[in-house]
Amino acid sequence: MPSPSASVCLFCGSREGHDPAHPALARAFGQMLARENWRLVYGAGDVGLMGEAARAAQTAGGVTFGVIPRHLMRREVARSGLSTLVITETMHERKKVMFTNSDAAVVLPGGAGTLDEFFEVLTWAQIGLHEKPILLLDSGGFWQPLVALLDHVIAQGFADPSLRELFVVTKDVPALADELRRRLPHQA
Ligand code: AMP
Repeated sequence: MPSPSASVCLFCGSREGHDPAHPALARAFGQMLARENWRLVYGAGDVGLMGEAARAAQTAGGVTFGVIPRHLMRREVARSGLSTLVITETMHERKKVMFTNSDAAVVLPGGAGTLDEFFEVLTWAQIGLHEKPILLLDSGGFWQPLVALLDHVIAQGFADPSLRELFVVTKDVPALADELRRRLPHQA
């Protein structure tokens, strides 16, 4: 298989959530990346949606790049067999290494850590530090409360309406793949 044509950073839960649709979505996402020959860049854990996506990508023959802080290696069960594993000293370094090695960020359902990661790359975009696409995978409307919160912040004058243009909301994995094909560099 040729080397990946692009790298996609995944932010998502270190838990599975209550609805079995979430792990199924993470698996479909991992399989899609492998099929498209896009490298999965993620938090290197073998737990929750992260683990589901990475196992699916690996099983489908995809290239994986994991980044984990040393102090989380036990808690998040650093996955073996990744194409590349980078161990950092801090959480900040992890986020930076993940994002600088990616051409886009995709956000699947998750908790406070996932929200932190989304807001980090969104606020970096807001101040012009990057122009990489940020995509929310909003299957089942999971992220609608987040979108409503950001609309509220804009309506109340605490952010420019252009904030809304810094991320794309997609409803399922095929729609997400279409958006990535359009937005990633050097796609045939
Ligand atoms: P969660 O959505 O809370 O399950 O967390 C998803 C991922 O985000 C996990 O791998 C966490 O270790 C990671 N995470 C949590 N807080 C931070 C942070 N401040 N910076 C970077 N990653 C974080």
